[in-house]
Amino acid sequence: MKQEKIPALSRIFFGETGCLVSRLGFGAMRLPTKKDGHVDFDRAAHLIQYALRRGVNFIDTHHFYHNGESEEAVGLAIKGFPREKLILQTKIGMYNDYTEKQCWQLLEKALKKLGTSYIDFYLTHSLSWQHYLRFNRLFLKVTEKAMAKGLIKYRGFSSHDKPENVKRFIRSGHFSTMTIQYNLINQEYRETIDLAQEKGLGVVVMGPVAGGMLGSVEPGLLRLLPEGISHPASLALRFVLSNPHVHVALSGMSTISQVRENVATISSNQGLSPQEIHQLQILLERRKKLVNLPCTGCGYCLPCPHKVKIPFIFRQYNIARVFGIPERARKTYLRLQLEERASACTGCRRCEKKCPQKIRIPERMKEIRSYFES
Ligand code: SF4
Ligand code: SF4
Repeated sequence: MKQEKIPALSRIFFGETGCLVSRLGFGAMRLPTKKDGHVDFDRAAHLIQYALRRGVNFIDTHHFYHNGESEEAVGLAIKGFPREKLILQTKIGMYNDYTEKQCWQLLEKALKKLGTSYIDFYLTHSLSWQHYLRFNRLFLKVTEKAMAKGLIKYRGFSSHDKPENVKRFIRSGHFSTMTIQYNLINQEYRETIDLAQEKGLGVVVMGPVAGGMLGSVEPGLLRLLPEGISHPASLALRFVLSNPHVHVALSGMSTISQVRENVATISSNQGLSPQEIHQLQILLERRKKLVNLPCTGCGYCLPCPHKVKIPFIFRQYNIARVFGIPERARKTYLRLQLEERASACTGCRRCEKKCPQKIRIPERMKEIRSYFES
């Protein structure tokens, strides 16, 4: 039988933890499922093991993923692999207002499902400033004890909060790692990532292909590809890993071919060259100028008395045209309730006075209505 050539997947030090992690991480949130919606444990095990044999050593899971089956699937898949060669990350949603007893129960359950005596990185999931103030003391108390008992090696957080709040979490000194979203479309955490690096945190990026948006092969997106890169998903992954302060890019892989392509992308080239990034930025800037909708997403125009989601709508419109992915953006736009869409704008102009960019909001809403809703 012909042996498959296995490319080398490089490792990098994960902040100041001393752990060596693969730059591609396995996100266990899109595992193969059966018709009834439950995880197909055999196929999931095969998939994860395939990734591990190709050099992936970082696995991210959560007791929420796949209705609690993700941790179990990971546990079954890693049976027989030397534990010290794997880095496991899982999370707890402290915003559920758990008692201390429940926190311990969840941790014990995670250990049991994962079939391990310790978790490398235990995260407080989707941390916001509000949750930090309310629940972080308990998270610190539980994790402190768990670390002393050897059940957890390090603690961290994942977050979608504003960059200034994420910076507060980093500066608190409580965490060794963070997981945040960063990609070609959404670069708002760039400085936050730099700060995390400066403070010695391990940085994991979720959504490198923007929830699949950058994985499509629409013509406008294809025209962004530098020479030698044939697929937008590969461009997206390389872009993320071009940032030397990002240690791991998580990919929620569901098929063997996705693992193969991602491993090939990352092993053949760590990232884009400075020239390629420069070219890409020029192209994007040119498209932004053509689009001429300088919304910064500041939200000063809100609330609209008619509930129109102004910054969200402008964002989808910009994504559609700057990145050349109108169908993807339309799909996201159409998830809005009818009263939140551009067509609900009555033209009252209350928002306009508050917009520092002086965008003629009602006119643009009309334009967007015919673009997305017609
Ligand atoms: S002009 Fe439209 S978007 Fe602005 S506040 Fe009025 S209804 Fe809302
Ligand atoms: S105030 Fe202007 S720039 Fe800010 S989110 Fe609203 S439309 Fe965009």
